[in-house]
Amino acid sequence: MQQRVVFLGTGGTIAGQAQSSEDNVSYQAAQIEVGQLLEAIPGLKGQLRGAILHSEQVFQRNSKDLDPSHWQQLQGRVVHYLSQADVQAIVITHGTDTAEETAYFLARTVPAALLRLKPVVLTCAMRPATSAQSDGPQNMVDALCVATSLGAHGVLLVCSATVHSALRVQKVHPYRLDAFDSGEAGPVGVVEEGQLRLFGAWPELLETVVHHALSPLASPKRDWPRVEIVTSHAGANGAVVRAMCAQPSASESPLRGIVIAGTGNGDIHHDLEQALHDAQSKGVRVIRTSRCATGSVVLAQPNNTEPPLLEASPLSAVKARIALMLELLEA
Ligand code: ASP
Repeated sequence: MQQRVVFLGTGGTIAGQAQSSEDNVSYQAAQIEVGQLLEAIPGLKGQLRGAILHSEQVFQRNSKDLDPSHWQQLQGRVVHYLSQADVQAIVITHGTDTAEETAYFLARTVPAALLRLKPVVLTCAMRPATSAQSDGPQNMVDALCVATSLGAHGVLLVCSATVHSALRVQKVHPYRLDAFDSGEAGPVGVVEEGQLRLFGAWPELLETVVHHALSPLASPKRDWPRVEIVTSHAGANGAVVRAMCAQPSASESPLRGIVIAGTGNGDIHHDLEQALHDAQSKGVRVIRTSRCATGSVVLAQPNNTEPPLLEASPLSAVKARIALMLELLEA
């Protein structure tokens, strides 16, 4: 059976258009269909290794404007294609701003039975498609190389010839082409002249949560649990948290969770901390993370007499938020 590689378009700078080919900053993201982007890449076929190309535009958005209904819509298409015997791999073109969130969401919600066998590779660009030095085409070729490499599986992100895992990847630069980082663990590998060089094993699959709410029949317009992120800093206080916990208006969902991007080891200004304890006592889940660029919150040795008052997560604040939303979805 001839294998297919499916490209799913979602928008982003990779599909962006500027007035001039010299303009890499003031452009409109999410303008060009993924099929058109593919047609404009001469060397792409060489990376297909005998497979055929299929493409679909799932939505067309600047990724800063995505919401959980987009994640859910994309997850539905990923599951649909990965379930087909002739689909070997999926490549998703996406905006860089929230690519790490989409990658983590997919890694947590696409059934492990599918991700164990086939890869889902997100890719993106820091310059629009109209740029004289656009990075999108090479990133798409590199993503295809990874997607068709022997043993590739799980959710990955390829940018600037570097392969990152969904768990570790984080956007760390607003302008540089090499805008992503995998923290202390480092990337999974690199792509060099159309060859993948892995630094170690493929990343382990994350624990997947397959909710009924995420089945293809579920409405993408469902109410996702409202979880907000609050940063602690010098001068932080509880006013924002108290406002969030106030009675919601008819059009707003009630607050279900707060993720704190804490200073250092997930520390929280004491004025803010008091408001968080009050929120927690009213049934709002509160999770501490660190606002540091790398590393994870280190938990104290278990101590029977003084259990920690607020839960901590080793994830970044944006990924901890998704993890908590998934947890609350069925609570
Ligand atoms: N704001 C754009 C987006 O995330 C940025 C990018 O793609 O680089 O869609």
